[in-house]
Amino acid sequence: MIRITLPDNSVREYPEGVTGLDIAKSLSNSLAKEVLSVTVNGEVYDLTRSINEDAEIILNKWDSEDGMHAFWHSSAHLMAEALEALYPGIKLGIGPSIDNGFYYDVDPGEGVTITDSDLPAIENKMKELAQQQNTFVRKVMPKKEALEHYTRKGDQYKVELLNDLEDGTISFYTHGNFTDLCRGPHLPHTGYIKAFKLLSVAGAYWKGDERNKQLTRIYGVSFPKQKMLDEHLAMLEEAKKRDHRKIGRDLELFTFSHVVGSGLPMWLPKGAQLRERLEEFLKKVQREHGYEQVITPHIGQKELYVTSGHYAKYGEASFRPISTPAEGEEFLLKPMNCPHHCEIYKFKPRSYKDLPVRMAEFGTVYRYEQSGELHGLTRARGFTQDDAHIFCRPDQLKEEFTKVIDIIFVIFKALDFKDFIVQISLRDPHDKEKYIGSDENWEKSEKAIIEATREKGLEASIEYGEAAFYGPKLDFMVKDALGRKWQLGTIQVDYNLPERFDLEYTGSDNQKHRPIMIHRAPFGSMERFVAVLIEHTAGKFPLWLTPEQVVILPISEKVHNYAEKVLNLLKNCDIRALIDLRNEKIGRKIRDSELKRIPYLLVVGEKEAENSTVSVRKQGEGDKGSMNLQDFVKFAKQEIEKQLEDISK
Ligand SMILES: [Zn+2]
Ligand SMILES: [Zn+2]
Repeated sequence: MIRITLPDNSVREYPEGVTGLDIAKSLSNSLAKEVLSVTVNGEVYDLTRSINEDAEIILNKWDSEDGMHAFWHSSAHLMAEALEALYPGIKLGIGPSIDNGFYYDVDPGEGVTITDSDLPAIENKMKELAQQQNTFVRKVMPKKEALEHYTRKGDQYKVELLNDLEDGTISFYTHGNFTDLCRGPHLPHTGYIKAFKLLSVAGAYWKGDERNKQLTRIYGVSFPKQKMLDEHLAMLEEAKKRDHRKIGRDLELFTFSHVVGSGLPMWLPKGAQLRERLEEFLKKVQREHGYEQVITPHIGQKELYVTSGHYAKYGEASFRPISTPAEGEEFLLKPMNCPHHCEIYKFKPRSYKDLPVRMAEFGTVYRYEQSGELHGLTRARGFTQDDAHIFCRPDQLKEEFTKVIDIIFVIFKALDFKDFIVQISLRDPHDKEKYIGSDENWEKSEKAIIEATREKGLEASIEYGEAAFYGPKLDFMVKDALGRKWQLGTIQVDYNLPERFDLEYTGSDNQKHRPIMIHRAPFGSMERFVAVLIEHTAGKFPLWLTPEQVVILPISEKVHNYAEKVLNLLKNCDIRALIDLRNEKIGRKIRDSELKRIPYLLVVGEKEAENSTVSVRKQGEGDKGSMNLQDFVKFAKQEIEKQLEDISK
């Protein structure tokens, strides 16, 4: 018998070789129907895999990542099985689960292409195979044997994958006539996969390397119930409408040009206004929290990034050199601002009394991304970080952390992100050697982060082993209006750069000490943040932020003078207004203004001109009736001021 510790900490005895599914059945039948995988002493197992030793287990259902990923990953296998049946000779790359479903990279073979129009046929085959309820059978064999098998089959991708694996035993999974090299875990059988949809086909370089062959990547998503799939597909439809690339074009916020180069966004006047307003807002909040703005160049000497370690880490290919052949100097485009800020810190001797030093910069950086990876503003090659670095003493770490959390809260509140998740990443307590910095410092800083989040009333999940080698961190993920998760603010402690740049301060003991560095960028980058904001609000920005707050719509030419008068009055009151003087029907003008997501529409005709009134329509709420012009101005100003006040509270 073996002793199994259940999630509620109770211990039960089971015969050796018991499976997660057996255990679930012994607890309740309804649980057994819902459970998808089992975590055994920290490792995720198939539900049908034997457990042969005393263990602590977690039964993973759809609501846990480990359950969901077993489901999606098994769906990738089911899709591959269908592909093999439909495309004889197809070669398989990798087929992982991802954040929102699964994909498989395949090589259909010479002259064969798979396009979106082939997806329904693949889905039908999958349905047929799922109905067979074929069990996933795990088998292990020595690496050598596995290599022989795939070499014989001429499966060059699997051979490459095997060669990258360490020697030892390799696991395979078979269901129906299909076998795949895989670590698992999988569902008990294919019949679990009741509802699925193949979403799209894209090109993807083998192993993500553009020097390799381009394979065909097929994306899909699956659910235990049809209703869940229907809801998900409705969400995807809505997401399409909210795609920031589409809204950005419709609202004339930003553009890309192939002549300038892909991945290099250009902000149009309205987008630039929006961005400037966000920057001003953040600058003000940061000023109130003791930050000082600095400005550094877009390039730096190669040596700078060699010193910082970025050059070795990201490799030559990540950097774009700019050289002055005559003088033999070599510069690189700046991929991050931190090294420059370290040099600013060193500009003069610092004493313990000078700390913390909080240096902020809207710093534009350039990073190489493969063209296939580029995606509007969320994945660009040039972007501006709302970056800042805090240099502080160890005893100040907790307070500084708390202050950064405060700033992130202000931003979330101002932009209506109500739902977010917080994760603390700490070092792996069993592998302390791989981290830089003293044991004492790590203990202190980890404690500081945990305490700071607790004091702020945040429920953070703690992930061991997820810290960077140079320090622990705190991550914020927001959930947008469609329930999608976006990684936004990160607060990162760093013991490495102060060491590499030999940063110092003189302590009260008159000795030299190393400051601790904190990296933080609440927006991440202006580009990414604006993209998330567009998709979250569907382009309906809060009144204080939106580029155009009010539009005046004259009914006829006769009232153009009055409309101009209204415009001037609004402008004098710092309300961002415009006028639609086109010779169009009023219904058309209203529709167009609503498409532009302008919050207030003022319709003016002869009656309004006579009485100095405006007929007010609010975006999304319709007709609000007639208002005295002066009253409207006061009302709009108050609403904007109240929003700004609420933010700074
Ligand atoms: Zn697998
Ligand atoms: Zn940094």
